[in-house]
Parts: sequence; structure tokens; C-alpha cells
Amino acid sequence: MGRSKPEKKLNGTVIVTYRCNARCSMCNRYKAPSRPEEELTVETIKKLPKMYFTNITGGEPFIRTDLPDIVRELYKKSDRIVISTNGFFTDRIVALAKEFPQVGIRISIEGLEQTNNEIRGLENGYQRGYNTLKTLREMGMNDVGFGMTVQDKNAPDLVPLYNISDEMGMEFATASLHNSFYFVEAKNIIHDRPMVARNFENLINALLRSSSPKKWFRAYFNHGLINYIYGQPRLLPCDMSFDTFFIDPYGDVMPCNGTKEKEVMGNLNTQTWTELWNSPEAEKVREKVRRCDRQCWMIGSVSPAMHKYIWKPAWWVIKHKAKSLFTGKPYSIYENMICRDYRDGKVSKEQLDKCSTCDLNAVIDNGLSEASKAQLLGKTGEEIVDADIAQQMDIGRR
Ligand code: SF4
Ligand code: SF4
Repeated sequence: MGRSKPEKKLNGTVIVTYRCNARCSMCNRYKAPSRPEEELTVETIKKLPKMYFTNITGGEPFIRTDLPDIVRELYKKSDRIVISTNGFFTDRIVALAKEFPQVGIRISIEGLEQTNNEIRGLENGYQRGYNTLKTLREMGMNDVGFGMTVQDKNAPDLVPLYNISDEMGMEFATASLHNSFYFVEAKNIIHDRPMVARNFENLINALLRSSSPKKWFRAYFNHGLINYIYGQPRLLPCDMSFDTFFIDPYGDVMPCNGTKEKEVMGNLNTQTWTELWNSPEAEKVREKVRRCDRQCWMIGSVSPAMHKYIWKPAWWVIKHKAKSLFTGKPYSIYENMICRDYRDGKVSKEQLDKCSTCDLNAVIDNGLSEASKAQLLGKTGEEIVDADIAQQMDIGRR
């Protein structure tokens, strides 16, 4: 008798809310919050498939006071959970970490103190984030770290921030500017590409000099970010929606968070996972993914690809580790033909700008439900979320 095939585990990102208390310069999600009444319930989360990895994100996920219930439910179906947060709600983060010491926490810090606070727009944002990370480390949590979105303004802080994370024994995750409905933004662009690339080059060399294989592969990821900011085709195929998915606060299942418009495979509030995943709508989205030209290089789409096409990053690592035996600078941005072409005047800044997803004339559909859009008539997203948090704090004090 044949044994039934084990269920294939997926890589999932759960966007638990579009509410956010930060005011980041590269993301307008804080202006377009979801209504709490419409956000994913534990009942819908119960319908998700088995996962080998789950990222919980937002908005700011810790705005949801029922986040521990969500994490508890997700642990029944996921081998590993990492929560991305802006680190503002220290008490909530620490309380959750006490209940789930195995959970991963990534706090977005956008540079050293002044730069971070200017980009993120949170009062004392750097100190709060840093202190939260330090507290988590002191509690003995292993899977904690920084996340930084690199742009012109904070690129010089890249290596100094990496050094801080390294001294604290923490993970250091990087990204660069992206445009999509998810970020409610279409105008993000890197202006001084060589300057930003050189800061990445320094980081890559620091990572390659380390003795940690995980950091060597992270060096490859950062090499891919240089390629991305020069608007070049991805170094690895994008297979989002095949064995990965995103689910938004309304239960809509999407391939990723990089598309210009929201792409929906189905809705988990009204469908079962099997129906949704095997539906004609899901297939249509997969066809679009196959033709997608946005060339994103975000950890959510690259990490599964690096596992799937491991020989390519592995070969890059072997080559550069071998070089590091003979030189202190095993990596140079000029390994990338496009960096050489730009340096040599064969390609202009205007041509590179055209390769990016920046679109100054784009009208952005923020992906909100009609009811969430309606609450923005007469009130700003900031006012709505501020009132929401004030009420939560008030209830907490009673
Ligand atoms: S990047 Fe994150 S923290 Fe910043 S506004 Fe957007 S959702 Fe909020
Ligand atoms: S490249 Fe991949 S992650 Fe980016 S928008 Fe296209 S399908 Fe999504």
C-alpha cells in the first residue's frame, strides 16, 4: 500500500493589520489603516496551511492587543515565526517574548539615532527600539535583530549599525526602497546609486570576513540589493505564489507585497485554503508572477529562492570566501557590469531611473476595503490610529 505524500509546507507572511503608529518617509501605510473590526480573526488564521516559516507583519503588528492569540494559533501550524515590528510597544513585545521565547523579533531601525528618528518619525524611536532589543537579548532570546531599509539618507549608517548589531550578537537584515500598493508609495528611488552601493560593498566585505556561513549568504543577499538598486533583473527567479503567500488583514491571499496593484488569489474568510489555493484566480495570479517585471529583491521573496536555487548563492559564496583568503576586500561593486557601465558613462542616471519602479505620476490604490476607505472621509489615518492607541492605553490603565 502506498503511503500518502506528506503535506508540502509553505512560506507565509501574515499582515495582521494595516494600522501603524510610525511615520516613515518611505512608506505611507500609516495614512491608510485598516479598521480593527475587519482585521484577520483567529478563526481565519486556523484555516491557514502548514508552514515551515511565518513572518508576522503590518502596519505595526503589536498595535493588535490580541497578537499573542494569533501567535499561539500560528505555532500550531508553523515551524518558525518571526515578527517584524517598529519596536515602539516595548512592554507588549517583552510580554510576548516571555510567552514565546522561541519567536523571532526583527525591529526596524533605519540608522543611527538621528537618522533613524528622522526617517521613522517616532519619538525616541531609536532608543526604544535599541532598548527593546537589548532587553530581549538579556532575557536570553536568540532570534532577535535589526532590520534596516537602506536609502540615500541612511546608507552611511549601514556598517556602523551592522557593527552595533554584531557586538550585541544579533541578526542584521537589510532591504532597500520599494514601491507597491503595500507601502502605499510609488515615488521611492535611490538617487546616488554609487554612494549607496559602496556602503553595501563595505557591509558585504564585513560579512564575508566573518566566520559565520549565515553571514556569507547574507553577503550574497546584499550583493543582490546592489543589482536591484541599479534596476537590473533579479539574480534568482521569483516564485512567489507557488510555495509562498501573503495574507492581508482582510483575509485576501496575495502572491507578495511588491506588486503595484493588489493581486488577489482568493479570500480565506470565505473560502477554505484548498479551494483558494487551487482556484482559477490563484492560477491567474501565478501567470502574472511568471511575467512580473518588478525585479523586487526583498527577503520575503529572496529567502525562499535562495533555498530553492541554493547552488547559485553557494557558488558566489565559495568564490568570494576563496578571494578573502588573499585580500581584505574580497568584493567590489565593479564585479557588477552595470556599476562599471555607469562609472564609465556608458549608462546615464536617467536610463537607470527608468529601470526602477519609481513612477511620479502613479495613482496608488492602497488596497483598503471600502469600509476602511470610508473612515478616511473627514479624518486622517494618523488621527484614527492615534485615537485608537490612546483608547487602548486608557483601557490598559483602568
Ligand atoms: S514602514 Fe512599517 S513602520 Fe514604517 S510606516 Fe510603513 S508599516 Fe509603519
Ligand atoms: S518580482 Fe516577485 S515579489 Fe516582486 S512584485 Fe513581482 S511577483 Fe511580487
